[in-house]
Amino acid sequence: MPDAFADLVGQDEAVDTLRRAAAAAAAVLRAPQGGPQPAVNGTDPGAGMTHAWIFTGPPGSGRSVAARAFAAALQCVHGTGCGQCPGCHTTLAGTHADVRLVVPDGLSIGVNEMRALVLRAASTPSGGRWQVVIIEDADRLTEAAGNALLKAVEEPPPRTVFLLCTPSTHPDDISVTIRSRCRVVPLVQPVPEAVAEVLVRRDGIAPDVARWAAAATQGHVGRARRLASDPQARARREAVLAVPRRLTSVGAAFDAASALIEAAEAEAEATVVEVDAAERAALETALGAGGTGRGAASAARGSAGQLKELERRQKSRATRAQRDALDRALVDLAAFYRDALTIAIGAPVAPVHTDTAELADAGARNWQPEGALRRLEAVLACRTAIEANVKPRIAVEAMMLALWKG
Ligand SMILES: [Zn+2]
Repeated sequence: MPDAFADLVGQDEAVDTLRRAAAAAAAVLRAPQGGPQPAVNGTDPGAGMTHAWIFTGPPGSGRSVAARAFAAALQCVHGTGCGQCPGCHTTLAGTHADVRLVVPDGLSIGVNEMRALVLRAASTPSGGRWQVVIIEDADRLTEAAGNALLKAVEEPPPRTVFLLCTPSTHPDDISVTIRSRCRVVPLVQPVPEAVAEVLVRRDGIAPDVARWAAAATQGHVGRARRLASDPQARARREAVLAVPRRLTSVGAAFDAASALIEAAEAEAEATVVEVDAAERAALETALGAGGTGRGAASAARGSAGQLKELERRQKSRATRAQRDALDRALVDLAAFYRDALTIAIGAPVAPVHTDTAELADAGARNWQPEGALRRLEAVLACRTAIEANVKPRIAVEAMMLALWKG
């Protein structure tokens, strides 16, 4: 039977570390009260268990999968992450009472959210094992939220474990002081073969489709699964990969920019519209919309404030969803020019997009290595600009012009 770590693809070293830590954590729980306690501290990778962890790795490498698997192993009645016991099961299903998952849905995690979380994390675990707090995208903590977290990480309650996920340990992603209190588990980009294997085994996807999707998404497990199983995801990718062919004039470059932006907006809209409507309906019901009795006027003023706050959060989430969708498109586009570049210099590596190999081949001949490299750099510069808050349309238009001019 697959255990809690089964979906952590191609990460043997990290899984080893986490299994050892889970065993050490179980030993801590077994140690008799009042007797000598096994140590729970330190950032030394040789040590068994510690209170604060950072999972780093490129997008899609499985940072949050690793954090959840480790949380399951900590709550596992066997202390191993067997994948079958109630502790494992509820943790992996997201319903364990002592495992809190923070998934920021806006552009940043605020201080109020973090304070409330830290407070609850300090309580005694109801299941008698550990209080686990998983913070996905910990790089989106505001500075104030980071400080609130730092206090908890500096003086952790004895049974509380923080699991943070960030792209890297660069100071842009996580503060140096938090980093210094955590043990780091670096994840690597899984090889496409390992991703294809899990798509076949876990999701029942046909082997040839799994191999194609794993290569086309460069080892990003979640995207590979979506590409293999969702026709809309395929259509979006095809539209992006048609861009290089469409760039025949200045006008075409602006058209391509508009199309890319609008596709990202539509994709983002589709992901947030339902949950936005549900949240608004729930809040309106809770506020008793339409009341007319005594106090209704002041209640209405309070409601307006709450609705405004909800709208602000929803807008922030929509912006994030748009940026994420656009970034996925840019990653696909960058990989096309990377394919052209590797062909132009005769590098012995497999293409990312096997289905546009002919187009990449033609590009390599026309552009030479220098031209392919300039185009690849234009796409990467566009990603960097958007990350630095340049308006997406402006960044994408500049990129399209650079791709057209070469
Ligand atoms: Zn278990």
